[in-house]
Amino acid sequence: VIDIGTPERSVITTCAYCGVGCSFKAEMRGDELVRMVPYKHGKANRGHSCVKGRFAYGYASHKDRILNPMIRETINDPWQEVTWEEALGFAARRMKDIQAKHGRQSVGVITSSRCTNEETYLVQKLTRAVFMNNNTDTCARVCHSPTGYGLGQTFGTSAGTQDFDSVEQTDVVVVIGANPTDGHPVFASRLKKRLRQGAKLIVIDPRRIDLVKSPHIEAAHHLALKPGTNVAVVTSIAHVIVTEGLADESFIRERCDWDEFQDYAEFVADPRHAPEATELLTGVPAAELRAAARLFAKGGNGAIYYGLGVTEHSQGSTTVIGIANLAMLTGNIGRPGVGVNPLRGQNNVQGSCDMGSFPHELPGYRHVKNDSAREVFEKLWGVTLDHEPGLRIPNMLDAAVEGTFKGLYCQGEDILQSDPDTKHVAAGLAAMDCVIVHDLFLNETANYAHVFLPGSSFLEKDGTFTNAERRINRVRKVMAPKNGFGDWEVTQMLANAMGAGWTYTHPSQIMDEIAATTPSFAGVSYEKLETEGSVQWPCNEAHPLGTPLMHVDGFMRGKGKFIRTEYVATDEKTGPRFPLLLTTGRILSQYNVGAQTRRTANTVWHEEDVLEIHPHDAEVRGVKDRDWVRLASRSGDTSLRAKLTDRVSPGVVYTTFHHPSTQANVITTDFSDWATNCPEYKVTAVQVSPSNGP
Ligand code: SF4
Repeated sequence: VIDIGTPERSVITTCAYCGVGCSFKAEMRGDELVRMVPYKHGKANRGHSCVKGRFAYGYASHKDRILNPMIRETINDPWQEVTWEEALGFAARRMKDIQAKHGRQSVGVITSSRCTNEETYLVQKLTRAVFMNNNTDTCARVCHSPTGYGLGQTFGTSAGTQDFDSVEQTDVVVVIGANPTDGHPVFASRLKKRLRQGAKLIVIDPRRIDLVKSPHIEAAHHLALKPGTNVAVVTSIAHVIVTEGLADESFIRERCDWDEFQDYAEFVADPRHAPEATELLTGVPAAELRAAARLFAKGGNGAIYYGLGVTEHSQGSTTVIGIANLAMLTGNIGRPGVGVNPLRGQNNVQGSCDMGSFPHELPGYRHVKNDSAREVFEKLWGVTLDHEPGLRIPNMLDAAVEGTFKGLYCQGEDILQSDPDTKHVAAGLAAMDCVIVHDLFLNETANYAHVFLPGSSFLEKDGTFTNAERRINRVRKVMAPKNGFGDWEVTQMLANAMGAGWTYTHPSQIMDEIAATTPSFAGVSYEKLETEGSVQWPCNEAHPLGTPLMHVDGFMRGKGKFIRTEYVATDEKTGPRFPLLLTTGRILSQYNVGAQTRRTANTVWHEEDVLEIHPHDAEVRGVKDRDWVRLASRSGDTSLRAKLTDRVSPGVVYTTFHHPSTQANVITTDFSDWATNCPEYKVTAVQVSPSNGP
């Protein structure tokens, strides 16, 4: 037991790790944060937390933090510490010169789902109202952009349909392409409680995740499909429901477009989607698939939770559509205990998408071609907005390599480590004349930067995060920014250095502007968040206290839309040289590329990445447990230790990507989702061979 003495004050704020959005009481003595206590009135966590939110905050005061701005003429020069004024003046001049020479479209921004809603809103405003283009993108591009597309097309809005409380009324839970125990631990606890009470569980995942069998929990069905075949499995489940007469026809007639349903039903009824045919593609036994489909259709309230194992595929958007189809087909939308729920990886993926971070969408998911939506912002900002969608992250990098994209403001995102095809990202960054990195640490991307602007941690900022259930939670300043300014202030200073004249003095004013311009946030204010604790959007005149359940009386788009989901095999093929399929995930104590968790003083955060391999595959390669192995793909290779386990099937290997030395993105391919360019991180053909280590 460590005696921390008596804290002098405490501040209620929100965890900055995953999309559960747990509330914490940050207890302080002087300027020192001595303890994070899970807040019992937090609506997302009700007094619970996981190890990351509770203990992994030390990075905020880590010695690696950069607190002073720096510039350099070229990326070969040493960094030079300068004043904020000099750094911002240097950045503004370069960006203006680039646009003068190469045109309006030659610069853009990438923002992070770790930033607050207010910061994200300002970054997209900088792009649209100062750079005068739509070249704004977010790290959600590489995780949940297919959710935006798939749920937008079918339901009319890109968000989870129910709140976390709703799981308490669920009878059949489907977890597909997600590992809540490690990725969303506090929600996983609530889910497990419901399963222990008797709810049935169907897991669709190549790997035997913890939920499949843990104390007092056993999945009714684990469909251990071959990586890359989600669409075939989901379509085959629909085949069983339709051909066995298990669809909820009255729901479909009342709530969905009937003609589109008939077209879809004809499509899924085709014998090529039968479980027996699907077994050949996916490896899932037909009887198991058929039984799972019957359970989902007949087992009562059905809810589907999914993660990046759905989205990070060449058919990520198609799988999201297929999941939405299944929910509509069985009438599992619009009441407690049912629905479709993307489990967002980062704390503010939902908010980042809500705030107009995509190059084709203004805040509130309104297309940039929507004249009336553009007009709202044009009047308020006094500018004429570009009505053509801008560049996505991969397009920016391609254009940089081609020489037409020359300047990038990258806030809170280490694209060199987190985006696919590391060599191509490096080539794109190296070809630019001005890369501005705004971050806590000199990350890998900063190797290619000309300007470094120090960022502030979540403990040093006021604002809001929106969690996976659309809950807008307050983030409150626990301590003064160590670098002198909050991130929203830095963006404002950069905009003003380019001539903008913005005058925000507090993030609450930015939220007021969001509410004034974005219908789903029309009823949100800091005053309301103080009295209510949090609200779930849509929060407006019709729903002044927010909306826990969506699509109750009708879909946001009117009638629900069924869309055909044709399975198309990924172009990433196994063969004699690369006979195994690699898929990736996370462990509980780590977070993404580990920039925060690895900078926390506790050895639990220093567990290495390992390669899980089936004992049979290991034996034929002469590999023993803990041996070093070389993991090679068509893109590159790396070394890590082997862990022999039957959690993965023969033919499949699995690793995490928390350490830069693992270089997971050196291995992955450059294939991506057909609709959104979300990278296909989850399927890579590889070979594993004994090695002597790195
Ligand atoms: Fe933070 Fe997520 Fe853990 Fe909650 S579950 S404490 S939000 S990392």
